[in-house]
Amino acid sequence: MMEKLSAKEFDENFSSILEKLNKAAEGSNRRLKDISILAATKTVDADTINYAISRGINLIGENKVQELLSKKDQIIEVEKHFIGHLQTNKVKDIINEVSLIHSVDSIKLAKEISKQAVKNEKTMDILLEVNIGGEESKWGFEPENLEENLEEIASLPNIRIKGLMAIPPVCNEPEENRKYFRKMYKLFIDIGTKKIDNSSMEILSMGMSDDFDVAVSEGATLIRLGTALFGRRI
Ligand SMILES: *Cc1c(COP(=O)(O)O)cnc(C)c1O
Repeated sequence: MMEKLSAKEFDENFSSILEKLNKAAEGSNRRLKDISILAATKTVDADTINYAISRGINLIGENKVQELLSKKDQIIEVEKHFIGHLQTNKVKDIINEVSLIHSVDSIKLAKEISKQAVKNEKTMDILLEVNIGGEESKWGFEPENLEENLEEIASLPNIRIKGLMAIPPVCNEPEENRKYFRKMYKLFIDIGTKKIDNSSMEILSMGMSDDFDVAVSEGATLIRLGTALFGRRI
Protein backbone atom coordinates (compact mmCIF):
# COMPACT_ATOMS: atom_id res chain seq x y z
CA MET A 1 0.00 0.00 0.00
CA MET A 2 1.25 3.45 -0.87
CA GLU A 3 0.83 5.61 2.19
CA LYS A 4 0.38 9.19 1.09
CA LEU A 5 -0.12 9.13 -2.62
CA SER A 6 -2.31 7.18 -5.01
CA ALA A 7 -0.91 5.56 -8.13
CA LYS A 8 -3.03 7.91 -10.21
CA GLU A 9 -1.63 10.98 -8.44
CA PHE A 10 1.91 9.80 -9.02
CA ASP A 11 1.20 9.12 -12.69
CA GLU A 12 -0.26 12.61 -13.12
CA ASN A 13 2.66 14.23 -11.32
CA PHE A 14 5.17 12.30 -13.40
CA SER A 15 3.54 13.12 -16.70
CA SER A 16 3.29 16.83 -15.95
CA ILE A 17 6.98 16.82 -14.98
CA LEU A 18 7.86 15.14 -18.28
CA GLU A 19 5.79 17.67 -20.18
CA LYS A 20 7.48 20.61 -18.44
CA LEU A 21 10.90 19.02 -18.87
CA ASN A 22 10.25 18.43 -22.55
CA LYS A 23 9.35 22.06 -23.04
CA ALA A 24 12.41 23.30 -21.17
CA ALA A 25 14.70 20.98 -23.13
CA GLU A 26 13.17 21.95 -26.46
CA GLY A 27 13.29 25.64 -25.62
CA SER A 28 17.03 25.45 -24.99
CA ASN A 29 17.92 22.99 -27.75
CA ARG A 30 18.84 20.23 -25.35
CA ARG A 31 18.14 16.54 -25.73
CA LEU A 32 15.99 14.79 -23.13
CA LYS A 33 18.43 11.91 -22.98
CA ASP A 34 21.11 14.28 -21.67
CA ILE A 35 19.03 15.11 -18.60
CA SER A 36 18.52 12.62 -15.75
CA ILE A 37 15.70 12.74 -13.24
CA LEU A 38 16.67 11.75 -9.73
CA ALA A 39 13.73 11.02 -7.44
CA ALA A 40 14.50 12.54 -4.03
CA THR A 41 12.82 9.96 -1.83
CA LYS A 42 13.15 11.39 1.69
CA THR A 43 10.05 10.59 3.80
CA VAL A 44 8.60 8.52 0.93
CA ASP A 45 7.65 4.97 1.85
CA ALA A 46 9.20 1.98 0.07
CA ASP A 47 6.00 0.93 -1.72
CA THR A 48 5.60 4.36 -3.25
CA ILE A 49 9.25 4.36 -4.31
CA ASN A 50 8.82 0.91 -5.85
CA TYR A 51 5.74 2.11 -7.72
CA ALA A 52 7.72 5.08 -9.06
CA ILE A 53 10.44 2.68 -10.22
CA SER A 54 7.84 0.53 -11.96
CA ARG A 55 6.70 3.63 -13.84
CA GLY A 56 10.16 4.45 -15.14
CA ILE A 57 12.11 6.19 -12.36
CA ASN A 58 15.59 4.68 -12.61
CA LEU A 59 17.56 6.84 -10.20
CA ILE A 60 16.79 7.65 -6.59
CA GLY A 61 18.52 9.78 -3.97
CA GLU A 62 18.39 9.90 -0.19
CA ASN A 63 19.74 12.71 1.95
CA LYS A 64 19.96 10.90 5.29
CA VAL A 65 22.14 7.90 5.98
CA GLN A 66 19.76 6.34 8.48
CA GLU A 67 16.79 6.57 6.14
CA LEU A 68 18.76 5.17 3.22
CA LEU A 69 19.85 2.16 5.27
CA SER A 70 16.44 1.48 6.74
CA LYS A 71 14.72 1.42 3.35
CA LYS A 72 17.34 -0.27 1.24
CA ASP A 73 16.18 -3.86 1.63
CA GLN A 74 12.61 -2.96 0.65
CA ILE A 75 13.45 -1.12 -2.53
CA ILE A 76 13.74 -2.60 -6.02
CA GLU A 77 17.31 -2.59 -7.32
CA VAL A 78 17.94 0.75 -9.00
CA GLU A 79 20.75 3.30 -9.21
CA LYS A 80 21.06 5.16 -5.91
CA HIS A 81 22.83 8.38 -4.99
CA PHE A 82 23.48 10.20 -1.73
CA ILE A 83 22.41 13.85 -1.92
CA GLY A 84 22.46 15.27 1.62
CA HIS A 85 25.09 16.61 3.96
CA LEU A 86 27.26 13.65 4.94
CA GLN A 87 29.07 13.36 8.26
CA THR A 88 32.53 11.83 8.00
CA ASN A 89 31.76 9.12 10.54
CA LYS A 90 28.89 7.85 8.35
CA VAL A 91 30.87 7.48 5.12
CA LYS A 92 31.67 3.85 5.89
CA ASP A 93 27.94 3.08 6.11
CA ILE A 94 27.11 4.20 2.59
CA ILE A 95 30.31 3.64 0.63
CA ASN A 96 28.93 0.39 -0.80
CA GLU A 97 25.32 1.55 -1.03
CA VAL A 98 25.46 4.38 -3.54
CA SER A 99 27.10 4.96 -6.91
CA LEU A 100 27.50 8.73 -6.53
CA ILE A 101 27.78 11.17 -3.62
CA HIS A 102 26.49 14.60 -4.72
CA SER A 103 27.25 16.52 -1.60
CA VAL A 104 30.99 16.54 -1.00
CA ASP A 105 31.45 19.87 0.74
CA SER A 106 34.81 19.72 2.51
CA ILE A 107 38.33 18.38 2.10
CA LYS A 108 37.86 16.44 5.31
CA LEU A 109 34.86 14.58 3.91
CA ALA A 110 36.62 13.89 0.62
CA LYS A 111 39.60 12.44 2.52
CA GLU A 112 37.35 10.10 4.46
CA ILE A 113 35.57 8.97 1.27
CA SER A 114 38.95 8.31 -0.29
CA LYS A 115 40.09 6.34 2.75
CA GLN A 116 36.96 4.18 2.81
CA ALA A 117 37.11 3.66 -0.94
CA VAL A 118 40.69 2.39 -0.64
CA LYS A 119 39.66 0.10 2.20
CA ASN A 120 36.80 -1.30 0.12
CA GLU A 121 38.95 -1.60 -3.00
CA LYS A 122 36.69 0.59 -5.10
CA THR A 123 36.65 3.95 -6.81
CA MET A 124 33.99 6.32 -5.51
CA ASP A 125 32.37 8.83 -7.83
CA ILE A 126 31.55 12.18 -6.26
CA LEU A 127 30.28 15.66 -7.09
CA LEU A 128 31.52 18.76 -5.33
CA GLU A 129 28.81 20.89 -3.77
CA VAL A 130 29.10 24.60 -4.46
CA ASN A 131 27.60 27.25 -2.19
CA ILE A 132 26.53 29.23 -5.21
CA GLY A 133 24.45 31.78 -3.33
CA GLY A 134 27.25 32.47 -0.85
CA GLU A 135 24.89 31.73 2.03
CA GLU A 136 26.21 31.40 5.58
CA SER A 137 23.78 28.60 6.28
CA LYS A 138 24.62 26.45 3.27
CA TRP A 139 27.15 23.70 2.83
CA GLY A 140 29.53 23.68 -0.08
CA PHE A 141 32.70 25.21 -1.46
CA GLU A 142 32.79 28.88 -2.28
CA PRO A 143 32.96 29.41 -6.05
CA GLU A 144 36.19 31.40 -5.60
CA ASN A 145 37.98 28.46 -3.93
CA LEU A 146 36.41 25.69 -5.93
CA GLU A 147 39.25 25.04 -8.31
CA GLU A 148 42.00 24.72 -5.73
CA ASN A 149 39.85 22.46 -3.57
CA LEU A 150 38.94 20.40 -6.61
CA GLU A 151 42.59 19.92 -7.49
CA GLU A 152 43.39 18.75 -3.99
CA ILE A 153 40.44 16.33 -3.90
CA ALA A 154 41.18 14.99 -7.37
CA SER A 155 44.64 14.01 -6.17
CA LEU A 156 43.25 11.71 -3.46
CA PRO A 157 43.34 7.98 -4.20
CA ASN A 158 40.23 6.05 -5.33
CA ILE A 159 38.09 9.10 -5.91
CA ARG A 160 36.73 10.39 -9.21
CA ILE A 161 35.11 13.81 -9.48
CA LYS A 162 32.24 13.63 -11.96
CA GLY A 163 30.86 17.13 -11.69
CA LEU A 164 29.20 19.73 -9.50
CA MET A 165 26.05 20.10 -7.43
CA ALA A 166 24.27 23.16 -6.05
CA ILE A 167 21.26 24.13 -3.98
CA PRO A 168 20.56 27.81 -4.68
CA PRO A 169 18.95 30.09 -2.10
CA VAL A 170 15.25 29.65 -1.35
CA CYS A 171 13.32 32.17 -3.43
CA ASN A 172 9.78 33.15 -4.31
CA GLU A 173 10.08 32.91 -8.06
CA PRO A 174 11.96 30.16 -9.93
CA GLU A 175 13.34 32.81 -12.30
CA GLU A 176 15.24 34.37 -9.38
CA ASN A 177 17.53 31.34 -9.41
CA ARG A 178 18.45 31.61 -13.07
CA LYS A 179 21.52 33.72 -12.27
CA TYR A 180 22.82 31.04 -9.88
CA PHE A 181 22.22 28.22 -12.35
CA ARG A 182 24.01 30.25 -15.00
CA LYS A 183 26.99 30.81 -12.66
CA MET A 184 27.11 27.10 -11.94
CA TYR A 185 27.11 26.22 -15.62
CA LYS A 186 29.97 28.61 -16.21
CA LEU A 187 32.03 27.04 -13.39
CA PHE A 188 31.21 23.58 -14.75
CA ILE A 189 32.41 24.50 -18.24
CA ASP A 190 35.47 26.47 -17.08
CA ILE A 191 36.72 23.67 -14.83
CA GLY A 192 35.98 21.10 -17.53
CA THR A 193 38.31 22.81 -19.96
CA LYS A 194 41.19 22.57 -17.46
CA LYS A 195 41.23 18.77 -17.80
CA ILE A 196 42.32 18.05 -14.25
CA ASP A 197 43.25 14.37 -13.70
CA ASN A 198 40.55 12.25 -12.05
CA SER A 199 38.00 14.90 -12.71
CA SER A 200 35.57 15.18 -15.58
CA MET A 201 32.72 17.62 -15.68
CA GLU A 202 29.93 15.27 -16.81
CA ILE A 203 27.21 15.83 -14.24
CA LEU A 204 25.73 19.17 -13.24
CA SER A 205 23.22 18.41 -10.49
CA MET A 206 20.90 21.38 -10.00
CA GLY A 207 17.21 22.17 -10.10
CA MET A 208 14.47 20.88 -7.78
CA SER A 209 10.68 20.71 -7.94
CA ASP A 210 10.06 24.46 -8.17
CA ASP A 211 12.79 25.43 -10.58
CA PHE A 212 13.96 22.40 -12.56
CA ASP A 213 12.80 23.88 -15.87
CA VAL A 214 14.95 26.96 -15.28
CA ALA A 215 17.90 24.76 -14.27
CA VAL A 216 17.52 22.66 -17.41
CA SER A 217 17.43 25.71 -19.61
CA GLU A 218 20.71 26.80 -17.97
CA GLY A 219 22.47 23.47 -18.50
CA ALA A 220 21.57 21.06 -15.66
CA THR A 221 22.26 17.43 -16.58
CA LEU A 222 20.58 16.01 -13.48
CA ILE A 223 17.54 17.38 -11.66
CA ARG A 224 16.52 16.26 -8.18
CA LEU A 225 12.76 16.05 -7.67
CA GLY A 226 10.87 15.29 -4.48
CA THR A 227 7.66 17.28 -4.06
CA ALA A 228 6.84 17.43 -7.77
CA LEU A 229 6.81 13.62 -7.94
CA PHE A 230 5.52 12.57 -4.55
CA GLY A 231 3.57 15.56 -3.27
CA ARG A 232 4.22 17.80 -0.31
CA ARG A 233 6.16 16.28 2.59
CA ILE A 234 4.29 16.44 5.89
C1 LIG B 1 14.68 16.97 -0.82
C2 LIG B 1 15.77 17.30 -1.73
C3 LIG B 1 15.52 17.64 -3.08
C4 LIG B 1 14.13 17.68 -3.67
O1 LIG B 1 13.41 18.77 -3.15
P1 LIG B 1 11.97 19.17 -3.74
O2 LIG B 1 11.90 20.63 -3.60
O3 LIG B 1 10.97 18.45 -2.91
O4 LIG B 1 11.95 18.71 -5.15
C5 LIG B 1 16.60 17.93 -3.87
N1 LIG B 1 17.86 17.92 -3.40
C6 LIG B 1 18.14 17.62 -2.13
C7 LIG B 1 19.56 17.64 -1.68
C8 LIG B 1 17.11 17.30 -1.25
O5 LIG B 1 17.39 17.00 0.03
